[in-house]
Amino acid sequence: MKNLKLFLTLTILSTVLIVFASTANQESKVYVCLSGTSYAYHNKYCKGLRKCTHKIDTVTIKQATKSGHGKACGYCYR
Ligand SMILES: [Zn+2]
Repeated sequence: MKNLKLFLTLTILSTVLIVFASTANQESKVYVCLSGTSYAYHNKYCKGLRKCTHKIDTVTIKQATKSGHGKACGYCYR
């Protein structure tokens, strides 16, 4: 019975953590290249982002998704 209680505690704890992490993820800052053809968001140190010759905007993932940059970049988010 002791193990079951531990298992339940861990399950609940990890669920809370996952929910918290995904919420934080939606609000975390990412970088998008406003080139018109780009469709991905990047992190700060991305190789692909450095190639951007247009304006770079800092937005949350939520905002990036709304503006058509909802896909995580293949270089920096693997
Ligand atoms: Zn990138």
